Amino acid sequence: MDFSFSEREEAFRREVREFLAANNPNRGGGAAARGEGEDDLESAMDRLPKLLAWNQALVEKGWVGFHWPREVGGGGGGLIEQMILKQESGKARAPMLGLSYMGLAWVGPGIIKYGTEQQKRRFIPAILEAREHWCTGYSEPGSGSDLASLRCSAVRDGDHYVISGQKTWTSLAMWSQWMILLVRTDPAAPKHRGITCLLVPMDAAGVEVRPIKAMNGETPFAEVFFNDVRVPVENRLGAEGQGWDVTKHALANERSSIAEVTAMVNHLDDLERLAKKCKSNGRAAIEDPLVRQRLARMKTMVEAMRLTGLRFLTKQLRGDEIGAETSVNKLLRAELEVEIGRLALDIEGRYGALVKGSPGAIDNGKWQRQALTWPSYVIGGGTPNIQRNVIAERLLGLPHDV
Ligand SMILES: Cc1cc2nc3c(=O)[nH]c(=O)nc-3n(C[C@H](O)[C@H](O)[C@H](O)COP(=O)(O)OP(=O)(O)OC[C@H]3O[C@@H](n4cnc5c(N)ncnc54)[C@H](O)[C@@H]3O)c2cc1C
Repeated sequence: MDFSFSEREEAFRREVREFLAANNPNRGGGAAARGEGEDDLESAMDRLPKLLAWNQALVEKGWVGFHWPREVGGGGGGLIEQMILKQESGKARAPMLGLSYMGLAWVGPGIIKYGTEQQKRRFIPAILEAREHWCTGYSEPGSGSDLASLRCSAVRDGDHYVISGQKTWTSLAMWSQWMILLVRTDPAAPKHRGITCLLVPMDAAGVEVRPIKAMNGETPFAEVFFNDVRVPVENRLGAEGQGWDVTKHALANERSSIAEVTAMVNHLDDLERLAKKCKSNGRAAIEDPLVRQRLARMKTMVEAMRLTGLRFLTKQLRGDEIGAETSVNKLLRAELEVEIGRLALDIEGRYGALVKGSPGAIDNGKWQRQALTWPSYVIGGGTPNIQRNVIAERLLGLPHDV
């Protein structure tokens, strides 16, 4: 591995820093910049005008969809520059590099790889400009880890598909205009081959969304029911029966997008700050050897994630695809997030029970909320057991069945 940057890459880093100094809505202090505020949905809604201006400034630079091909409106950027952009914006605690979260993370890449020219023209600009948001209709009751067993069906009727069935845990379904949906189109085919991917407008007749409340009190996801929903055949992504390949591509993107190292570095910095300002037994928590040990262990894990990420980046730079590799950092990140939440609440002691808005809540209840939110992120995008299976079978070459 070569860790040095070329003069061109360093110049790009300077350009990014200048851009962030002028456009980052979190610049110049404030709770989010100090890592003391929350980044929950409510605060995001309050800050929407600023966030849309941020998205637009990024679009003008070609930095939303940074590595997407220029022909579809992306930035056509290289992998190293993309890493620099993510590092610098993470360090500056800027908002995400584009607001259409799932659109950018995996729907867009799926459309670029499998979509028709018409689909690219229709959907990609709206994702880049955050005019449309997407949700993901994969999981069903009884089909989560074993996704290929899904039963939600679509039957061809002339130039339409008619969808019936149910999805669940659909993040952001209430706020999305579109869903990337997996349906069974051929019940007689082997289970991986009978699946098709459809792009479904959430306002189509027969789509019913029922929000699900999570243990942090928010409603981040929903059950979605399809009661004979008609979708034109032109909304199919890839060929009929190709849905599994489309999904594999999408999930590799999901795991890589979830596993961001800079965010973890920021969380640990915030945790260290918390340990410095909270007292336990008459001294700052940071002076407690057990707290220091737990922090040190986590910092070591983040460094392992950083180096693992660089190893896989090197592989990509050599022209090799990565897929199963992204499970390594996803697994480490899942463990870390849960442990960060636990340590934060241990440090806060009784104050850890205070929610946002309560008098005396430390960092306005940020750690309390995160400790209740992060355990669910461990499951989203594939549970730790499933990540371990992927690593064992596809990276280490261990036998599938024992
Ligand atoms: C915050 C969050 C957001 C989500 N967002 C979405 C979304 O937007 N769209 C969507 O479609 N889904 C979403 N999901 C659903 C998520 O993908 C599933 O919950 C996940 O894949 C696990 O499936 P399951 O819940 O059916 O659990 P199950 O698959 O029933 O697993 C139950 C337990 O069995 C273990 N297990 C299962 N199979 C194996 C195996 N082969 N080997 C070892 N252990 C195994 C699992 O590790 C787990 O511990 C989200 C979930 C969460 C928590």
